[in-house]
Parts: sequence; structure tokens; C-alpha cells
Amino acid sequence: MASNGSKERIRQFLLANVGKVVTSHELRDAAGTDVSEWARRVRELREDEGWLILTHNDSAALKPGQYLLEEKPPERRVSFGRGISIKLRAEVLDRNGFTCQMCGKTPGEIDPDTGRKVRLHLGHIKDKSLGGKDELSNLRALCSTCNQGAKNVTSEKPTTIWLLSQVRRAGQDEQRAVFEWLRTKFGE
Ligand SMILES: [Zn+2]
Repeated sequence: MASNGSKERIRQFLLANVGKVVTSHELRDAAGTDVSEWARRVRELREDEGWLILTHNDSAALKPGQYLLEEKPPERRVSFGRGISIKLRAEVLDRNGFTCQMCGKTPGEIDPDTGRKVRLHLGHIKDKSLGGKDELSNLRALCSTCNQGAKNVTSEKPTTIWLLSQVRRAGQDEQRAVFEWLRTKFGE
């Protein structure tokens, strides 16, 4: 009974913090238990229920002791495809720099078209119906909008010349935002 209670509290805590980095201390406090029980509950949510809780093992953006429930768990577990493990999912997201591969948005940004926070999903490059597989080379990160095909954006990567031309014509504030983003990405 005690364990069910703590698992439910962790579940509610993570649901209230979707997309936010939480710490092991916060999880322990939320669980209201001592020692390492919360860690077992988190593992159960990951492994038994397919929750996309990332750790520093899954994402270079996280430090040890930090956890991130990347998006609201799907109601039906089949929605991401049963074949895609959390490890593979994390690999794809990490390789794609947690960035939508069609429009370039990142999680947590507000999508100006929907007014909602951007969430990333996995999309197949070659559709499963055409023989595409659930493997690293055939998966990419897409935001909800692009994943639904609601936007007519080419999947071709922008060329350097095109990209530079866009940055040059942007305003100073926009250029500064690009600069800050690149500095964060590539470090000092
Ligand atoms: Zn997108």
C-alpha cells in the first residue's frame, strides 16, 4: 500500500512537471519515502509503463541526479510504436539535438501557430508501411505540428548560403538570439 502511494505521488509530481528538469531530491520529497524507493518507482514508470523519463545517461543536457519527463505519457502506449525503446528514443533526440528536424523548433518554445509549447515526437523517415524500420537511421525528431504534417515545410536541410542570408536579413534581436543559441550549443 505504501509503495502504491509513493508511486502515485511520483506519477502526479512528474505529470505536473512535464518538460521541466527535476532533481532526485524533489522526487524523493514528492514520494515521501526514504532511501532509494523513489528510484525504484521511477524505474518502474520507465521500464514497465514506457514513460519517457530521461536521465543523464540518456541526454548530455542532464547532470547526474536530474530527471526530465520529456512529454506527457501517451494514453495508449502504442502511439510511439512498441518497437521504439526509451534508449533508442533518447539516442534519436540526442543525435537531433532535441530539435525538430523540419522546422527547427525545440521543446519548451511556444509554437507561434498553435500558441502551445513545442513537444517533440519521433517520426519515421521512411514510413513503416513502406518497410521503414524502428532504427536510429530511420527515425528523427519532429514537433507535434510537423509530425502531423500540418505544415508544408520541406524536409531538406537548409544550405549554408540560404541560412546565412536569412540571418543577415534578420533584425538585431533575432541575430542576437541566434548568437546566444549557437554559443550555448558550441560552448566557449
Ligand atoms: Zn516542427
